[in-house]
Amino acid sequence: MDLLAKELKRIRMNTFERLARHLVPVILAGFAIGAAAAPKSGPIDEATYRAHIARLSSDEFEGRKPGTEAEKRTLQYLESQFRELGLKPGNGASFLQEVPMVEITAAPDAALKFTSGANTVDLKFRQDMVIWTKREKAVESMESSPMVFVGYGVTAPESGWDDYAGVDMRGKTAVILVNDPGFATGDASLFRGRAMTYYGRWTYKFEEAARRGATGALIVHQTDPAGYGWDTVVNSWSTPQLDNATADGNAGRVAIEGWITETAAQQLFAANGTSLDEAVKRANKRGFRAEPMQSRASASLRNAIRHTASHNVAALMPGTKRPEEYLVYMAHWDHLGRMPGCSGDCIFNGAVDNATGTAGVLAIAKAFASSRAKPERSIVFLSVTLEESGLLGSAYYVDHPLFPLAQTVAAFNMDAMHFGGPTRDVTVINIGASQLENYLADAARAQGRVLMAEPTPEKGTFFRSDHFNFAKRGVPALYIKGGIDDREHGAEWRQKYLADFTAQKYHKVGDEYSADADLRAGVEDLSLLYAVGAKLAAEKTFPNWNQDSEFRAARDRSRAAAAK
Ligand SMILES: [Zn+2]
Repeated sequence: MDLLAKELKRIRMNTFERLARHLVPVILAGFAIGAAAAPKSGPIDEATYRAHIARLSSDEFEGRKPGTEAEKRTLQYLESQFRELGLKPGNGASFLQEVPMVEITAAPDAALKFTSGANTVDLKFRQDMVIWTKREKAVESMESSPMVFVGYGVTAPESGWDDYAGVDMRGKTAVILVNDPGFATGDASLFRGRAMTYYGRWTYKFEEAARRGATGALIVHQTDPAGYGWDTVVNSWSTPQLDNATADGNAGRVAIEGWITETAAQQLFAANGTSLDEAVKRANKRGFRAEPMQSRASASLRNAIRHTASHNVAALMPGTKRPEEYLVYMAHWDHLGRMPGCSGDCIFNGAVDNATGTAGVLAIAKAFASSRAKPERSIVFLSVTLEESGLLGSAYYVDHPLFPLAQTVAAFNMDAMHFGGPTRDVTVINIGASQLENYLADAARAQGRVLMAEPTPEKGTFFRSDHFNFAKRGVPALYIKGGIDDREHGAEWRQKYLADFTAQKYHKVGDEYSADADLRAGVEDLSLLYAVGAKLAAEKTFPNWNQDSEFRAARDRSRAAAAK
């Protein structure tokens, strides 16, 4: 059956479903169960999707670390695939957008110690702490910097909350809790309750400490509020650190940034006559004030500094009627490379994270390229770099957009499409945020699925991938995941599967592809995103963020400016 015939069949089934809904609601349940048993195949070719995942996550690509030979191989692969689909280069004559970056590698003798009177605690790199500097300096240090417990390190005027009120942080080291008081207390009136806000993210905490003029900023790792274990911290930050290169060599950043383990923090608070638990309790109360500690922090780092560049890859399918309006499908191609000082299997293959999303962009591009109805709006396929280093490739893109952001109708991000079978639901990260969800709900209904909120809004997933940079600039963005309610095994099974993935494979060398990987869930989700884009590509509408979204104002401003 060719694509058109399939499409017609799908449309007929939808029409029947709609009729059934209106005329025979009683039999609808039975119909839905029938439909559920055999999820309809869509425009996404599973074999293509599978082949891209297998290839990109193979050892040949060495974990797709930016700035390495593996980057070249990855870029060549993506460019050749886009060319083969007949797409145009997204950056003038080139498929590549250079992202200038600086790589700072701390020597393993990175040292951090806390001194409280006669008592000194030396923390071991990787075991008790990881520290780094974002400043481009061969040697960076701090000596006897007075430590200040700043609670969650949050200044949120709209919530009447300021952990830094009345304290001068210059020359000092902030000791900061991860997440926010709403999460810790479960009090829905504090921030967003258990759901993480941007204030809960580590990126924000280092940024705020820098704005306060602090010399050091140390986050206390706790697995529950962080959403990941200490391994993830070590794997992410004790390897060479990549950052966007800036004119001032990142002089505006805090000198020493880092994480300490919960155990190290317990020792620190004990040396200051309190306990971590008590300190957390105080920090959770409205009106908390930063607490100067008796302890002082000293640290030193020797760095190897390398200026280099990574690349975003952009391909364009020009719209037939409104080529100046754009839809963006994106996924980050980069991952963590090789584990340093390791023997045996040391490659972070990143099959789920994010060969799946990268393959998803290619599979959706193929679906558009094979479709007989060509999109009236332009479609941009964007593979961004340096996501794992703090969403740097997408940050560079929104600072240097290849296509105007005000004319970018929507952005769809694919990051870690999980393996597994079909589900009755679709997880929407940060549900209720934008009008794009109306389109998504329609497409999901056609698959016999419903939209659901993410089960763990406390993890701040919305702030942890590339669509967030688009959202900050107002571009309506969708970030979805395969659902929880597995059609064959139920919700409990699926939740355990996901929890096991996070515990055992997320950002570990075990995130690998195997030939028996079940890709049906991914294919269904890609079909959804394709359907939403195909619909929008045929419309003139510009869906917006909902009124109560923190991103609405930015969109209204940018659209108003574009209209002038
Ligand atoms: Zn990742």
